[in-house]
Amino acid sequence: EGAEAARLVVRALHRAQRVLHVAEDELGTLDAIAGDGDHGRGMCRGVDAAVEAADEALAAGADAPSVLRRAAERWADRAGGTSGALWGVGLLALADRLPADEALAGAHVVDGVRAARDEVCAVGGARAGDKTLVDALDPAAETLAAAHRNGAAAPDAWRAAVRAARDGADRTKDITARRGRSRVLGDKSLGVADPGATSLALLLAEVGDALGV
Ligand code: ADP
Ligand code: MG
Ligand code: MG
Repeated sequence: EGAEAARLVVRALHRAQRVLHVAEDELGTLDAIAGDGDHGRGMCRGVDAAVEAADEALAAGADAPSVLRRAAERWADRAGGTSGALWGVGLLALADRLPADEALAGAHVVDGVRAARDEVCAVGGARAGDKTLVDALDPAAETLAAAHRNGAAAPDAWRAAVRAARDGADRTKDITARRGRSRVLGDKSLGVADPGATSLALLLAEVGDALGV
């Protein structure tokens, strides 16, 4: 069962890789409006490195938390940029909540996503409303936890979280950036979704059924 959890993590990372490559140009374009245009490229570099590390770790027989830890470290290492560092931090927090020798369950993922949110906020200093990826991650984490608490079936809980992430990313259009690179460009970002929130919502939408929880 532990080995199955590790395989699910690897499968989810492969899905993330696919969707980020599809969205690479679009994310770069968003980031070019009020940032430096490298978000698509950075996410692709990060996830490519993470997938490579995860494949290696799985082949070496690592358990789910170790697989994801290796992936997170490599992501942060290779991605560059603020988002790369924060994805590394977030995935490390998630990894700490995964089971080493039992099946992956909804509760692990709920706790893990919330822990990732907490760490990303602690390290990056952003809060909901600052026009960052936190605007997608925070509602996703809270919605997932609430759905789980209310006894929703796992796929339904995940779908609700994905909707919350998308809505959150969408709402960043109405905000002027207060954190990250784009804050210095202020109103230039008004009307445009935050690239980090956009990629986070895309990624969550894609990995749900790979995790099967
Ligand atoms: P960089 O800004 O270093 O070029 P990226 O372009 O890859 O890095 O990522 C930009 C994204 O990072 C932003 O759209 C935002 O979502 C996210 N971001 C930037 N600073 C922070 C922060 N302090 N907390 C959370 N997210 C942040
Ligand atoms: Mg950038
Ligand atoms: Mg940059």
